Amino acid sequence: MRKPREALAEQSGQSKRLRVSSNIGENVFSIIPVEALAEQSGQSKRLRVSKYLRNFEYGGKHFLYHSCLGNPIEVVEDYPDFIEAINSGVTLEQLNVLPEIKKEVEQLIELSLVEFSDEPDLIERGIIENDELIETGKLVNMLVLDVSTRCNMGCSYCNVHKTQDKHDINGGLMDFDIAKKSVDEYIKLVIESGKKTASISYFGGEPFLNYKMLKRLMRYVYSLRRIYPQLSIYHGVSTNGTIIDDEILKDLKDLEVRVAISLDGLQLDNDQKRSFSNGKGTFWIVEQNLKKLVKQKIDVEIVTTISEHNAFSIPKFVDFLVDIGIKDLSLKSCAYRDYEDNQRRDVYEAVITGVHYAKKKGIRAREGHGDLDYTRGCQGLGGILCVEPSGDVFACPEGIRIKLGDFDSLSSIPKKSQEYRFVSSRITGNLPDCRGCDVEGLCRGGCAGQSEYNFDDIYKVDKSACESIRRNIKRNLAIRASFD
Ligand code: SF4
Ligand code: SF4
Repeated sequence: MRKPREALAEQSGQSKRLRVSSNIGENVFSIIPVEALAEQSGQSKRLRVSKYLRNFEYGGKHFLYHSCLGNPIEVVEDYPDFIEAINSGVTLEQLNVLPEIKKEVEQLIELSLVEFSDEPDLIERGIIENDELIETGKLVNMLVLDVSTRCNMGCSYCNVHKTQDKHDINGGLMDFDIAKKSVDEYIKLVIESGKKTASISYFGGEPFLNYKMLKRLMRYVYSLRRIYPQLSIYHGVSTNGTIIDDEILKDLKDLEVRVAISLDGLQLDNDQKRSFSNGKGTFWIVEQNLKKLVKQKIDVEIVTTISEHNAFSIPKFVDFLVDIGIKDLSLKSCAYRDYEDNQRRDVYEAVITGVHYAKKKGIRAREGHGDLDYTRGCQGLGGILCVEPSGDVFACPEGIRIKLGDFDSLSSIPKKSQEYRFVSSRITGNLPDCRGCDVEGLCRGGCAGQSEYNFDDIYKVDKSACESIRRNIKRNLAIRASFD
């Protein structure tokens, strides 16, 4: 008896062809007549190609990706035949006789590039779910307290020291009553919304410049774990790592505070951009403090701002981190808008290479959004409530200036604040200028803060930049597909 596959292959000369290949797993070229697949079983669900599937060519190769989720994959040149075949109404069960093809189709289902025909629309579902999360307060997953807008450093890419006067309400230092009340309100919100986890971040400027208050606050937050045993309460501090004395070290250890330290590479790279206001580099002191933190077994994440000056030496930096025992590395993008496209490409390739290298060395490395990834724009506005020293609450510590409410009624912000709803609804599908764009859910209309700055409207986008954005995102998708 002849195998069905052979029978199909024989007919393929006259028939429409399904031919698909991917660079994930084994590369398989399969040629079969579509008619053999299109027969309906009547029992199982039909497959269809996602309406968000897009394609492009880069470096002579062909790629498919999802315009909302990314998920790039390299394919053979005549993939349109494959798309046509899938859309002809085939079911997954019908592919049982063609295990190689089935495996590839399953891979595409996993990437959401192929789906079952009764699946609801991804964007519409996302909007409904987001509305529910806003309504119930569940969207909020972190409280950020801007405990000090002052900073002892003068990094060249940072605006904090340049806008010191603007932030100097209450001397730029948050007082304990505002911080404590904000925490109480946040915990109330977590409990009312039925969530089980609370995350509190001490942010700045440099938080340790307000240490007397911060120490009291960290103790208070730690004590809440006993009062609310049903909650997992985490707290962490983002610091430049230059002001960590023995007292701070002990408190961080005893109060189980996670630490994120900014460091942009080894001495030469770091000190180019990260220096004290007198111009002296900071690497030497951060290195000393890192070693002390690791010795105390305190959780430390390194946050590195990447630009052309340090992107190419990530592997050497990773070796240094491995040597001193750091396990977490987060790479953020610096706004290098002046870069030419090829510079962006080189930096992105260097970042991806660095991330893969770090993972091989046992470091949990993450790329940030922006030019370091194929995504940009806000990821989950409304997820953070950020309290400034004045007690005003905002949605983002660095971007939008739409005030959401006040610290002393923070728990009611999700339900009562029109501004909160307005800001939190800025998600894929709700930006009229972006509907149907090839990178709709990846670009997400860019930074809301930038839109506010440019147009005084967070729902407007700078259309003059779109062509270059789409080109950059597709290039990053291609680079990513080649690495994965
Ligand atoms: S407003 Fe800008 S800075 Fe803030 S979360 Fe959005 S992209 Fe990031
Ligand atoms: S800002 Fe432009 S590139 Fe970005 S999603 Fe909107 S239309 Fe697309």
